[in-house]
Amino acid sequence: MADPKGFLKHTDRELPQRRPVDLRLTDWREVYTDFSRETLRTQASRCMDCGIPFCHNGCPLGNLVPEWNDLVYRDQWEAGMERLHATNNFPEFTGRLCPAPCEASCVLGINQPAVTIKQVERELIEKAWEDGTVAPVPPSLRTGRRVAVVGSGPAGLAAAQQLTRAGHEVTVFERADRIGGLLRYGIPEFKMEKYVIDRRLAQMTAEGTVFRTGVDVGVDVSVDRLRSEFHAVVLANGSTVGRDLPIGGRDLDGVHQAMEYLPQANRVANGDTVDGQITAAGKHVVIIGGGDTGADCLGTALRQGATEVHQFEIMPRPPVERAASTPWPLYPLMYRVSSAHEEGGDRVFSVNTEEFVGSDGRVTGLRAHEVRMVEGRFERVEGSEFELKAELVLLAMGFVGPERGPLLDGLGVAYGDRGTVARGDDFGAVGVPGVFVAGDAGRGQSLIVWAIAEGRAAAAGVDAYLMGSTELPAPIVPTQVAQR
Ligand SMILES: Cc1cc2nc3c(=O)[nH]c(=O)nc-3n(C[C@H](O)[C@H](O)[C@H](O)COP(=O)(O)OP(=O)(O)OC[C@H]3O[C@@H](n4cnc5c(N)ncnc54)[C@H](O)[C@@H]3O)c2cc1C
Ligand code: SF4
Repeated sequence: MADPKGFLKHTDRELPQRRPVDLRLTDWREVYTDFSRETLRTQASRCMDCGIPFCHNGCPLGNLVPEWNDLVYRDQWEAGMERLHATNNFPEFTGRLCPAPCEASCVLGINQPAVTIKQVERELIEKAWEDGTVAPVPPSLRTGRRVAVVGSGPAGLAAAQQLTRAGHEVTVFERADRIGGLLRYGIPEFKMEKYVIDRRLAQMTAEGTVFRTGVDVGVDVSVDRLRSEFHAVVLANGSTVGRDLPIGGRDLDGVHQAMEYLPQANRVANGDTVDGQITAAGKHVVIIGGGDTGADCLGTALRQGATEVHQFEIMPRPPVERAASTPWPLYPLMYRVSSAHEEGGDRVFSVNTEEFVGSDGRVTGLRAHEVRMVEGRFERVEGSEFELKAELVLLAMGFVGPERGPLLDGLGVAYGDRGTVARGDDFGAVGVPGVFVAGDAGRGQSLIVWAIAEGRAAAAGVDAYLMGSTELPAPIVPTQVAQR
């Protein structure tokens, strides 16, 4: 245990500061300032090394949180890093981007602010990169088995790294021009700068993973070829179909899915030129969807110089404190203020959009009204109708599943109730031997930490399929998610 009295001596939870709003709106860099490692050690000392560490259970990866808190407190960073990498291939992604269900379930959080688990994770991995201790881990033997991973988001990357290290020849196919999935083209630079992906890809390449970009599997490489050239396939193709809003005026110019808008902004932030870029510059913008994707659109629109931004959410505003419906150790329903919300824009709750209006084929505004929840259903609030100027509308209402096209049709996969690819407990696609499913493609729209957990679990399934048994560690993923 770090310091037996740490949680009594240090009752405050300290986190890094965000850069001033005026400053950070002028660039695309990450919003947080550096954090002193001495302060971090003090924060790590708050960990009680609980007999039943609920943080383990809260983390989909089963991260060994109290162990690394103790090692950081004792200044044993390399050992701490080894324990962190034991369960998580990419702590630099989760240390920046995870909503930290581990902290929501931290026992200290019952009557004090939770341990800053995510910050300890982030600093551990960043120090390891600085110290040059994140070295390639090439396999000690080669199995001669070839595995294709389709999709290079966190699920595909985690599966690929595990399988390469187990000695298989792994090729990751990505239809985009760069590797990373939503890490690359969904998540804005101000949440995670892209060098963070690139340095990890260099490690993976040195270990032997092969990356092929610009390859739409099912189109550029046929399913027959995929099956004949590889002994196993991991589908990590994501949940890429955005939920639509089929109301009047949907086809007007200027109404876009968030994932039509964000990738272009990410490209430009990384030096690319995008002809006819969708931009918020000088526009009144309405974002429909109050979640994280909407917040990413907000921060992006503000950096592009939007005149005004509204973010609509149909649900009522959550309570400021943990809602009674989500008691500890559940992930709390509560009002959250992301860095983008701090930067500007108006958040509008309990609102339903009726229609987009426009002239000359371009959107100019929308009509909406307030709603209230009555017995679990939305009811219109009479007399609450309003119009709002909108020259750019971004739909950020979530994703309904993976695309059904030549890849999934060609493989003949089955689908579960949620429109995702059905798989068994070993992550094998139902009815398609040798094909495995990881991440949002099988789970539905989720989180990076779940994608990594699923990538690791699917890799264990593949290894067992190819070799008869496996020693690859696999997090326990609930069976209701690994649906049949
Ligand atoms: C805007 C946005 C912000 C988010 N922010 C966060 C966050 O802050 N924290 C968090 O935890 N989660 C966040 N998420 C969710 C998180 O990004 C996803 O849950 C995660 O990326 C899913 O990983 P994945 O590997 O399953 O799929 P993806 O990351 O979606 O990757 C799938 C990849 O497969 C490729 N592909 C699809 N079909 C083919 C094909 N036929 N051939 C070749 N390649 C193909 C796609 O091009 C894509 O690159 C965010 C999501 C979005 C949309
Ligand atoms: S639940 Fe919180 S206090 Fe307990 S071991 Fe985990 S991080 Fe430490």
